[in-house]
Amino acid sequence: MIVVSGREIRDAIASVCPNYTVSEDADGQLVIHTNMREIADDTYLDLQMTPCDECGVRIDSDIHKEELGMCVECSNKYFDHEGGE
Ligand SMILES: [Zn+2]
Repeated sequence: MIVVSGREIRDAIASVCPNYTVSEDADGQLVIHTNMREIADDTYLDLQMTPCDECGVRIDSDIHKEELGMCVECSNKYFDHEGGE
């Protein structure tokens, strides 16, 4: 049996992909989301995704900042609604 501390695992992951997230699958297995996409052979781009405050969909952190915490879709909806009143 191998037992590893969560902190040890998280530190190791964070050292290569700082914007990782973790979750568990149905069996309780640790699942690591790197938030990276392959942009060339064996080369990965950190997507720096942040969830939309409204709908939770993961969006580029720059857009999240520009759209005041919302994805473009929610932002458009929000401002359409505001404009209509
Ligand atoms: Zn949204």
